[in-house]
Amino acid sequence: MHWKCSVCNLLWHEDSPPESCPKCQSPGEKYEKLSAEAWQLIERSRFTNGLHTQLLCLIPRLKDLAEKGIEDDLDARCVALFKRVLEDVTYWENSSKAELNGHVNRGKWG
Ligand SMILES: [Zn+2]
Repeated sequence: MHWKCSVCNLLWHEDSPPESCPKCQSPGEKYEKLSAEAWQLIERSRFTNGLHTQLLCLIPRLKDLAEKGIEDDLDARCVALFKRVLEDVTYWENSSKAELNGHVNRGKWG
């Protein structure tokens, strides 16, 4: 069975909930049993959430490259390209974060 702490969202995979939450120390009564559908949604979402996480880990490096290219200022076309990269990467970052936030709010997280 799968349980979720209603206080801190820690998942618990045992026949019964813990006596107290190992993360937030709330009493075990704060654990809610997840339905099969809720658990399947969490499992199904893990791969995609991992992809978003990997994308977000790459973004600081891409931003750094774009900023270095802008600062280098070899020529106008390169600067324009690096500015575009910076804009696009910022869009990817914000969109990926928005998707993850939506997943958390719709039970596609855990
Ligand atoms: Zn907890």
